[in-house]
Amino acid sequence: MKDCNACGKCCIKYGNGGLSISNQELQTWIDDAPEIAKYAHNGEIWFDPHTKALLNACPWLEKQSNSSAYTCAIYHNRPDDCRYYPSTLDEMIRDDCEMIEAKDTRNPKQAQKDLQIIMSDSWN
Ligand code: SF4
Ligand code: SF4
Repeated sequence: MKDCNACGKCCIKYGNGGLSISNQELQTWIDDAPEIAKYAHNGEIWFDPHTKALLNACPWLEKQSNSSAYTCAIYHNRPDDCRYYPSTLDEMIRDDCEMIEAKDTRNPKQAQKDLQIIMSDSWN
């Protein structure tokens, strides 16, 4: 299992529908980051703040100019759906996550343990 290389595949896949937000998370945004809260609608994200139409991409995903990597402009305020991704080897395989190494699919139990260690900062 490798560290995340910021390839952006997960943000691109889920940035145009499929991410939800709890009432508690929304309230935290309303209090601390209202500029993010306005992109939520009916418990989901990311919607145009004016038309309430689903956006084609997450508005906070930024492509780095000097590499193929992406960054999250709201990393410290990102939603839990993002904070807890990836959480299982199965979803990583499904999403072609670039953290996976060949040995991970040969030994999924160890891969899941390695993922837990790598993601401990994000999950806690
Ligand atoms: S909020 Fe950040 S981590 Fe979540 S989809 Fe957007 S860019 Fe990716
Ligand atoms: S798909 Fe995997 S390697 Fe790529 S940004 Fe998402 S978590 Fe990181």
